[in-house]
Amino acid sequence: MIRNDKGSLMRPDPLPESASRPVVTPLSPSVVYASDTPDMLDAQYEGDLHGYTYSREGHPNADVVAKAIDRMEGAPHLGVLTSSGMGAVSAVLMGLTHTGDHIIGGNQLYGRSLRLMAEDLPRLGIDTTLVDPGDVAAVRAAMRPETKMILVEVVSNPTLRVADIAGLAALAKERGVLLVVDNTFTTPRAFKAFDHGADIVIHSITKLLAGHSDVMLGYVAARDQELNDRLRVFTVTTGMTPSPFDCWLAERGMLSFDLRFDRAQETAAQLADHLATLPGVTRVLYPARPDHPDQARADSLLKGQTCNMVSFELDGGRPEANAFATAARGLNFAPTLGDVGTTISHPASSSHRALTEQRRTELGMSEGFFRVSVGLEDADTLCSVFSDAIEAATRR
Ligand SMILES: *Cc1c(COP(=O)(O)O)cnc(C)c1O
Repeated sequence: MIRNDKGSLMRPDPLPESASRPVVTPLSPSVVYASDTPDMLDAQYEGDLHGYTYSREGHPNADVVAKAIDRMEGAPHLGVLTSSGMGAVSAVLMGLTHTGDHIIGGNQLYGRSLRLMAEDLPRLGIDTTLVDPGDVAAVRAAMRPETKMILVEVVSNPTLRVADIAGLAALAKERGVLLVVDNTFTTPRAFKAFDHGADIVIHSITKLLAGHSDVMLGYVAARDQELNDRLRVFTVTTGMTPSPFDCWLAERGMLSFDLRFDRAQETAAQLADHLATLPGVTRVLYPARPDHPDQARADSLLKGQTCNMVSFELDGGRPEANAFATAARGLNFAPTLGDVGTTISHPASSSHRALTEQRRTELGMSEGFFRVSVGLEDADTLCSVFSDAIEAATRR
């Protein structure tokens, strides 16, 4: 048993002093933090003295990651970390609204965000409308006196349409509603949402920022101090605080984020062009391509960056989709994105399975539709893996 210098008490002495410091952020798994006196604790709770108390309320590893993302996004206050990206989405949609409020969401939001909008919020008496975020007139038409916020993704999942952020920001300002941007796909490398008029920015750190598929984590920050505080209180009260270890892992992943993003994006552009040459492919979606319906908007918003995501449609239905996934050996068929390795996902059987087939068809996601999250593989190797698998799946 560990004994401290009193000889018999259970808790160890403080860490040995060192004039030099560690180069890696120490992991602080401690759930509780001991204060010296009730006066000191009082001062901490009053905010006169900074000090952690109980890790659900906050801990150093979360704050280190939040600060790093704050810096990337240009967030004015310390952002809030949550135990998943959906935690961050839920905190905004449920922590800042009241019964009777109305929320407008992009109609191509992440599948679970759509579900929250369509099922859970109405149950709590919060009405929602889903609208094409590329059509500002439609969003304007959906506005009501009780509309509180507009939630959009810059590049939509998985059809890669680009929202009219400038138009939405102007409309939100005019009507005094909050513009909330889920910046998971574009990341602060390609898009700094606060600079484009967002009031609140959300991330699933799980994806590109952490980048190794070994940690689930979310981030949310508000431009307004009071809203930011409310988000923190809500996430603490509802128990969304992430574990220190997950934050520590995310920080480690984020050290290489810029390099990974640039490399994956470059390969994605190459893969998109390659897929467009294949006879078994009926459609390729990549916002930087001239045949993408939102290319001009992507150019103006993303300033030469795009994303690491490419979507395409195979010539065929579920049997061809199954054959492609089987033939694409070495690529993980997995419903995630932003991993160091390329992953393929099939929205009709995963992220968008809760929608009716008719709704999926309206959104442009047939049974042959795949989304590719490009990783760090060599581009030529990756292109040939796709050629071979698509050829094998669509050969008649
Ligand atoms: C994955 C994802 C989320 C949810 O994040 P989790 O960390 O999986 O909870 C939210 N928005 C977008 C755009 C995502 O891709």
